[in-house]
Amino acid sequence: PVQPRRSIVAGNWKLNPATLTEATTLLRLLKANFENHRDASSATEVVVFPPFPFLGVAVQELQGTGIQVGCQTIGTHEQGAFTGEVAPSMIQSMGVTYVMLGHSERRTLFGESDTAVNNKLQLCLAQRGLQVILCVGETLQEYETNLLASVVDVQLKKALVGVSSQDVLERIVVAYEPVWAIGTGKTATPSQAQAAHEAVRATLTALYGSHVAQGVRIQYGGSVTPDNIDALMAQPDVDGALVGGASLTADSFTRIVDGGI
Ligand code: PGA
Repeated sequence: PVQPRRSIVAGNWKLNPATLTEATTLLRLLKANFENHRDASSATEVVVFPPFPFLGVAVQELQGTGIQVGCQTIGTHEQGAFTGEVAPSMIQSMGVTYVMLGHSERRTLFGESDTAVNNKLQLCLAQRGLQVILCVGETLQEYETNLLASVVDVQLKKALVGVSSQDVLERIVVAYEPVWAIGTGKTATPSQAQAAHEAVRATLTALYGSHVAQGVRIQYGGSVTPDNIDALMAQPDVDGALVGGASLTADSFTRIVDGGI
C-alpha cells in the first residue's frame, strides 16, 4: 500500500510586491495567521515563493511558522564567471528549501525550453536539501485540440531525463497549471483538473512505475481561490495547489491552506 500523500500548498508571488517594506508586511501577516493555525500548517506542507531579493527576509520572518521558502527559478550554473546568475547552493545556504522550475511564464516569456528546465532540475538535485516544484501545462489552443495529455507527457519526459526514481519520489512535486487558467480567473473545473492529474500520473507511471507515480504529489495551479479550493482538493489526484494572485493576500492564502486539508 502506498503512503497517503501529504498535501502541499504553495504561493507564487511572481514579481510582487514592489518593495521590501510591503514584502515584510505580507510575511508578518502570514506569520500571524499561521501562529494561529498550527494544525493547518502541520497537516499541509506550505511554501511561499517570493522574488529573489526578499528570500532572506522571508526565511527570517517565517522562522518557527512551519512555512517554507522557495525561489521562482534558478540560474544555469553552480559557480563561476556567470554574471547575473543565482546558484542552488547559494539559496540553499540561506534556508531556502524549494525551487520552482518550468513555470509557464518562464517558458513563454523567457524562452525556457524543456532542455533548460532539465538542466536546472539536475543542478538543483545536485544540491542536497533542495526540492523542486516542476510546472507543466497546456495552452488553450492545445487544450481545445485535445493535446493536453501529449503536451504534458512531453514536458514531463524531457524535464525528467536522467532523474532517478528516488529523487522523483522524495524531492519533486509536479504542478499542473493549464496556461489558460493562470491569472485569468478561469479555473479548471474539478473534473478537468482530475483528468489532467491522471494524465500526469500516467506519464510518471510509464517512466518510474506505479509505486513512484502514486507517491508523487501533483498540485493544481491556475486561478485557485478560497472559494474553489475545496472542490479541487476533493479530487483524488489533486494533492495541493500552486497559488498566484490569491497568495498575495495573507488571509486568502491562509484560507486556501485551510481548505487544503
Ligand atoms: P494564478 O497563478 O493563481 O494567479 O492564476 C498561478 C500561477 O501562475 O502559479
